[in-house]
Amino acid sequence: MSNAPEVFASQDLTGVGEIFRKLNPPARLAVFGDPIAHSASPPMHNAALRERNHQLQYVRIRVTPEELPQALRNLTSAGFLGASLTIPHKQAALSFMDQLSREAQLMGAINTVAVRDGKLFGFNTDGPGLSAAIHESFGIPLKKHRVLILGGAGGAGRAITVQCALEGSPSVIITNRNKEKGDLLSQEIQEYLDFPISSIPMTTESLGLAMKSVDLIINATPLGMKAGDPSPLPEGLLTRDHLVYDTVYSGGETALLKQARSAGARCAGGFSMLLHQGALQNALWFGETAPLETMRKVLNDLRR
Ligand code: NAP
Repeated sequence: MSNAPEVFASQDLTGVGEIFRKLNPPARLAVFGDPIAHSASPPMHNAALRERNHQLQYVRIRVTPEELPQALRNLTSAGFLGASLTIPHKQAALSFMDQLSREAQLMGAINTVAVRDGKLFGFNTDGPGLSAAIHESFGIPLKKHRVLILGGAGGAGRAITVQCALEGSPSVIITNRNKEKGDLLSQEIQEYLDFPISSIPMTTESLGLAMKSVDLIINATPLGMKAGDPSPLPEGLLTRDHLVYDTVYSGGETALLKQARSAGARCAGGFSMLLHQGALQNALWFGETAPLETMRKVLNDLRR
């Protein structure tokens, strides 16, 4: 796979995608995003492809919002099996799919495209990936937790909120910087899934009250991605009885994880969600269980 440049351009998918067909092995899977150079998905997915002896590779393609519709249409003619989608495409891509999974419809976003019989199928593995990560990190399934989701109406936050509702977590509280978005999502979930959920303001007072009735706190805001980012949670609210999961995986230890550690709370960062959502994507493309430990080893190596 040494002849693959770090990032391809959306235009490379035009025609029959000759550039991708000429690679050794040919590229037939990709991640679309903008920016995309930082993505950890290619090493993780390529390790899985090698392990299973699939003669193809997974590459990064920089696709801008304007280029997205054509890039998705070109997947089929360029001989791709599918693609992963990341910021900023997860919501916009929804309307270009021929078919959507029920979860993707409810989550209002897709992170996985599978090309089947020339048609585009959209899925969302962020919610199920988070669920697997919670079970693995804390030994307790998502459906047993009373959950508070910070940034619950963002892209990942919405997927996680819907996942909690689908699994029947005993209670879910969401808080969103733009509270109206949180209120709207909460109403939608009550209407479509008949699930009790509340939306609260992102203030110290409201969060302080909420902390008394939840055991799992999930950060789905990007706070923590950049060095020096503050925690999304005010100081002094966590106790040793809380569990904290930060979906952020790009930096070192986030301010939220530091808060959790100093409060004596068990906590975990977002690498396990990245791993499990990727393993579920691989299973959708190949119809077989992904080599999870091989993928995990690559992510662990990248983290060091
Ligand atoms: P997004 O759609 O842009 O949503 C961002 C959310 O965070 C929104 O709720 C937004 O509130 C809120 N927010 C943004 N800046 C904030 C701030 N300064 N203070 C408080 N809230 C703030 O982004 P996304 O795609 O959901 O990604 C969010 C995070 O999830 C990122 O860190 C990403 O790395 C992580 N993620 C991790 C995985 C994984 O596999 N581990 C997978 C997907 C996403 P408003 O609605 O008010 O703007």
